[in-house]
Amino acid sequence: MDHDVAPALAALLGRVNKLPTLPSVALRVLELGEDPYAGIGEITEVVANDPVLSAKLLKAANSPLYAMRRQVDNLRQAISVLGFNAALTLALSFSLAPESDAGPLDKLAYWRRSLLAAVGARVIAEQAHINEASKCFVGALLQDIGMLVLEKAHTESYADMLVACDSHEALVLAERQAFGFDHAVVGAALLENWRLPECAWRAVAGSHDLTLSSKAAQPSGIACCVYLSGLLSDRWIHSDRVDTLDERFADQAHVVLGLDQAACEAVIAHMDEVLPHYAGLFEVELVLNEDRASYLIDEAREVLVLRNLRTLQEASEYKQRTEMLESRNRQLEARAYIDPLTGLLNRARLNQVLEQEFHAAIAGGWPLSLGFVDLDHFKRINDTYGHQIGDQVLITVSRVLQAQVRQADIAARYGGEEFVLVFPGTEEIKAFDLLERLRRTVAAEIHRADGADIVVTTSLGLATFSGNLADSEFGTPEELIRAADRALYAAKREGRNRTVIYRRAED
Ligand code: GH3
Ligand code: MG
Ligand code: MG
Repeated sequence: MDHDVAPALAALLGRVNKLPTLPSVALRVLELGEDPYAGIGEITEVVANDPVLSAKLLKAANSPLYAMRRQVDNLRQAISVLGFNAALTLALSFSLAPESDAGPLDKLAYWRRSLLAAVGARVIAEQAHINEASKCFVGALLQDIGMLVLEKAHTESYADMLVACDSHEALVLAERQAFGFDHAVVGAALLENWRLPECAWRAVAGSHDLTLSSKAAQPSGIACCVYLSGLLSDRWIHSDRVDTLDERFADQAHVVLGLDQAACEAVIAHMDEVLPHYAGLFEVELVLNEDRASYLIDEAREVLVLRNLRTLQEASEYKQRTEMLESRNRQLEARAYIDPLTGLLNRARLNQVLEQEFHAAIAGGWPLSLGFVDLDHFKRINDTYGHQIGDQVLITVSRVLQAQVRQADIAARYGGEEFVLVFPGTEEIKAFDLLERLRRTVAAEIHRADGADIVVTTSLGLATFSGNLADSEFGTPEELIRAADRALYAAKREGRNRTVIYRRAED
């Protein structure tokens, strides 16, 4: 930050006695976004504290955009359906939507520009092959948040300024003249204050003047997308100046990201595809009474965000998932939570995660299934082919397990040739099908990967906690593991190469 303006900024932020505060749920959500260990269980727990937000996520998961066959009726499932990153972005967008309080700033116009820019930043990121579409979305969404601060701090003079300026550019110039800095600088200071990720507040800092985004010569890809998104959004705000604005956007997109004319046209075409349907809704608002209008805007806002997230998720789900797993794995390894041979979670970490999932199941009232997997006659494999081939078999089995379970599930090496799988929100019958499929896939994969000679079968035990302590025979995660282990032992007794479900009678 420019040191000349730092004291004035601090004074400004200090003078606003009621700063827009970041809702605590949003703050926790952001922290989770930065936490490599955070899983669906944790975000569910946080979101569950906010009934309105929970309802919105449920509604999102049940919306036609996600085309689910079954009704999604609990928060845990909803977040699984949306995906971890999408749920984070969605929770954040909903939490930050400004309440339409009085004040000179037209909050609907404000929010509309923010959303246009957010969607725009994502589209630009995709066009420019910048892999951080959701960070671009969040940065662009927040880029004008400094306007809310200026409005609160200088209500009257800011009202005059808003009236006098007929464009965002003009407003920025007027702010600089009156205060010595513009709302981008204020917003960045606020977000830094809120401890948002550095890439986000730096992008906001550079949203009017890219050189302010970083001291380094090269601004980040995120900062470039956020900067361009503001210019892009103007084209849908000032429909009378589309040609000039397109030219300005194309010019800057070329300078900043090297996008050519065709790429810029593709960006606009993609935006046009997504937006008109909702732009119509925003126009309708003008002739309705206020209550109805804000209701409609609420709806439109949600749908727009959803639509954006859905596309985002589809386009980059695979890439994101791999990247996330890779980066998670790297970090997990560093903290010794991972089994070095197989790359799965180790037993210590399993115990921690299972503990969390057990409590999440109780809190959410959803089932929790646990599968215990043991390789059959594994000693013979070692004896016949040697320990190294034995290790290879363990690695292949682990790979199959990891590949077959969903992102929300947990695969861990319990010890030796024993594995544990945890399926949150999954009832017994479904978990049984899953385990049976795993059993067949493991046999087929080992056979394929290690030559025709080696046949490895597995025995599996399954136990399911109902999520309700009152009617369950399991009061702790340890009891659940023990039950699955007992079922596994029964599978061995009954001839191996099968899955057995724990029943109380076996005790
Ligand atoms: P069962 O069908 O009854 O489970 O027979 P098993 O031979 O699989 O069972 P047992 O528990 O008697 O033997 C497990 C074997 O797994 C013994 C041990 O040498 C081997 N093992 C454990 N950890 C490793 C490892 O990291 N690498 C290799 N290669 N072998 C391992
Ligand atoms: Mg064994
Ligand atoms: Mg064993």
